[in-house]
Formats: sequence, C-alpha cells, structure tokens
Amino acid sequence: MTEAPGEVALRTEALSKSFGGVHAVNDATTEFYQGRINGLIGPNGSGKTTFFNCVTGMIPPDSGHVYYRDRDITRWQPHRVARAGIGRTFQLCRVFPRLTVLDNLLVAVHPPHPLAYFGRPRVALLVERARDILARVGLDHLETSEARDISYGQQKLLELAAALMANPAMVMLDEPAGGVNPALIERIAVLVTELNAEGTTFLVVEHNMEFIMNLCHHVVVFDRGRPIAAGSAAQVQQDPKVLEAYLGV
Ligand code: ADP
Ligand code: MG
Repeated sequence: MTEAPGEVALRTEALSKSFGGVHAVNDATTEFYQGRINGLIGPNGSGKTTFFNCVTGMIPPDSGHVYYRDRDITRWQPHRVARAGIGRTFQLCRVFPRLTVLDNLLVAVHPPHPLAYFGRPRVALLVERARDILARVGLDHLETSEARDISYGQQKLLELAAALMANPAMVMLDEPAGGVNPALIERIAVLVTELNAEGTTFLVVEHNMEFIMNLCHHVVVFDRGRPIAAGSAAQVQQDPKVLEAYLGV
C-alpha cells in the first residue's frame, strides 16, 4: 500500500477535445492533488497541452467536465479560471518581448489588479510585489532589461514569475525545463519545491524524466489523449502500459 495522495484539487471527468478527426483529449478522467507536485507525462502528441488548454479555458472542451476544488469550472474564460486560483505557463514561452522584465510582471496581473486603479502609492505596492517575486526567481538584476534580451531559460522563469503575481493556489507548468540549460532547470526545480513547501499545488508537464521523477509526488501518464496510468513516479515508471506507450513495444 502506498500513502493516499490526499485531497483532490483538480479533477476532470470524461474530458474530450478533438481537432477534426484527431482525438487530442479523449474521455480523460483524472485527479490531481492539493498541496502536491503533480506530474503529467506522455509521448509527444498525447494531448497534454490540449488538456492544459481545456482546463485553463484557452480551448473549450467538446464534452466532459473540469472541477477545481469541487467547483465546476468547465468552459470558464481564462481570466475567471485565473481568478479562481489557477496560474499557468506555456510550452512555447509567452512573455512580452519588448517590455522590461519588471513591466512583464506588472501587465501580468489580469484582469488589471485593483491596486492599479488607485494612484501611485498602490502602484508602488504592486511594483514592490513584482520586485519581491523577481528576487525570488533570481531575475531582480535584470529588472530593466527587455524580455527579448534575456536568455530563453530566464524568459521561462519570467513567465513563472508573471504567473505568481496573481498569487495562484495552483500553478500549471507546460514543459518548464524544455530548451533550458541545466543550471536554470535546477533553479526551476528548487523554486517549485520551495513554493510547494509553502503550500502551492503544482501540475507539471515535462519531458525531462529526471525532473519529473525527482520532483513529483503523483504522476499521471497520458497516451493518445487519455490517462493510462497514475501513481507515484516509481509506480508509473514500472507500469507495462507506460513502457509500451513510450517504447512502442
Ligand atoms: P502534447 O502536448 O502531449 O504533445 P498536444 O495537446 O499538443 O499534445 O496535441 C495532441 C494532438 O492534438 C496532436 O495530434 C496535435 O497535433 C493535435 N493538436 C493540438 N492542437 C491542435 C490544433 N490547434 N489544431 C489541430 N490539431 C491540434
Ligand atoms: Mg505539449
């Protein structure tokens, strides 16, 4: 027997999304746990990003349901999902290239943070918060650089920092380590571990198995749009269905 993973934070029920004839997400029923670092892995094209998009309201699912902490959030608009406490980053990093690092955080507060409407003292508070977060992710020395001038790995950290501006209870990361050098991957891993220790729930899609295996408390494996295994990292790694999906045996 393994330890029960605890209270469910995010749950999907028979979630489906097709593009033409491609069943990108196909009848996916999943559970991800509160206060945990949850992993979502699977071969390329197995529907992980589409799943993220359906959960965060970027794409409406064709059918099925998404529940966050027992609220039905199916087809909610992205800003509403964000306000419910879910932050995310994108597989292909999305920062504003011509804005400074600091300004990327200030515009990330969406819909515009109420503080932004109340004159300079409040804006100063927002700037202070942005600076705290930049220090936290180790980008404070780059505050005045334009985002296009920092490295790709730093842009990924910036995107995570921007997601943190809304103080999300759950953060969904789509391939945070993809295209990032080992030193920055390590920094992202430490950051995720620290934030999780402070109570943030994570759902991480990642191809870097070492990253997943070291970090995740619970892992769900997708193949052709649906979960084929779930459990601890060690458990899913030994699952014959998982080996088959990855190796095609
Ligand atoms: P993953 O993130 O696991 O690599 P995706 O969710 O990106 O998988 O893709 C799942 C499947 O859906 C793939 O076959 C992909 O080509 C297809 N797909 C994803 N997005 C679109 C889209 N906007 N239009 C058409 N097909 C798409
Ligand atoms: Mg993807």
